Amino acid sequence: MGKRRSMGKRRFASFPETMAPPSALSVAKPEVGQFDPPKRLLCGPGPGNAHPRVHAVMALPQVGHMDAAFLRCAEELKSLLRYAWQTENPFTIPVSGTGSAAWEAAVANLTSPGDKHLVLVNGYFGHRHCDMASRYGAEIVRLDKPWGGVYAPEEVDKACAEHKPDLIWVAHAETSTGACQPMEELGAIAKKHGALLVADTVTSIGGIPVLLDEWGVDACYAGGQKCLSCPPGIAPLTLGDRALEKMTARNEKGEKVANWYLDMNMIKAYLVTNDFGTPRVYHHTAPISMAYAFREALKILAEEGLENSWARHRETAEFFWDELTRAGLECHVPYENRLPSLTTVKIPQGVDGGKVVTHLREKFQIEIAGGLGELNGKVWRIGMMGYNSRKENALLVTNALKDALQDQGLAP
Ligand SMILES: *Cc1c(COP(=O)(O)O)cnc(C)c1O
Repeated sequence: MGKRRSMGKRRFASFPETMAPPSALSVAKPEVGQFDPPKRLLCGPGPGNAHPRVHAVMALPQVGHMDAAFLRCAEELKSLLRYAWQTENPFTIPVSGTGSAAWEAAVANLTSPGDKHLVLVNGYFGHRHCDMASRYGAEIVRLDKPWGGVYAPEEVDKACAEHKPDLIWVAHAETSTGACQPMEELGAIAKKHGALLVADTVTSIGGIPVLLDEWGVDACYAGGQKCLSCPPGIAPLTLGDRALEKMTARNEKGEKVANWYLDMNMIKAYLVTNDFGTPRVYHHTAPISMAYAFREALKILAEEGLENSWARHRETAEFFWDELTRAGLECHVPYENRLPSLTTVKIPQGVDGGKVVTHLREKFQIEIAGGLGELNGKVWRIGMMGYNSRKENALLVTNALKDALQDQGLAP
């Protein structure tokens, strides 16, 4: 009887006519069960598995995005980011979105229509920069290399002298090829030619030495879900003095950033004003739980210590490469430029690479990936990033690869 009464109450709730519900719904309620994701070891080009402590903090109580408690969390996150990147830049913030959002923030804020971008294209992500920057009116000058190659400083210097770019874009760690670009001299070259240096450190931050201030990088972005072991959804951006000067000068000229969501002139007033006494200005609702997660991921990195994390990535990678060699497999990138966080492994003659990827996923719950672009069908991409960068994972992946090759009649 009680049940009937409460149902009746609901049915006859009174609504003003302007908001009256229909007598029947046109879209029926879907039947979905409990979501039970498979438990995979994520050893592809990203995301990697997040650290369990990072997952745990995502369940902490929600606060509002203007709450002093949240702003304190954001300030701590920002100082941890400066440590991870080795930069003193005051403008160092988490962007709401994945690595590509932080990247687009750099592009949107630092590109005036007609600016010339010198793009070092030695893999998939160089292509993405050309596409992204051209949408903001940049004139693109490409410096192409075979996928897996890296640039000598003289090549960049020469291209700058010839093309006089406003901005140079470079991937420090090219996740599509597994190559690491030496960065030491690029900042001085950019400065000499009056160009801004923008670096992609999505797959390098936390995994290999990244020394932004020492290198003279003007703007940089990264991702949370690679060597920092955070789930995807939040990504850092940092702007140095020269980048901020350009951004401010554009703003003062009345040249609007052609992207509302990523306009750092507005976001600055929310996230960069350091004084807790002054009210901050709402721009968008920051992803609170993702910020908890990212702060924890960076705190874990700081607890381990950057140097120790770099050493662990290096040791895991060396161990992995030795195991691969013993299994008769070869790496695509020469040793001196090979990334510890992402290895491209040559697919042996006569092997169906796609089948191996499926075999690892279906039989062992291990995710690896195939190649992109020039390396499509030629390599597997195998990541040992952050929390996943451990010798036991290297051994597991190598043994799973051997099992997959045996399955195709190849006995390594
Ligand atoms: C993963 C990756 C990106 C893109 O990041 P998303 O988080 O997927 O948006 C950009 N650059 C490099 C080098 C990457 O590896």
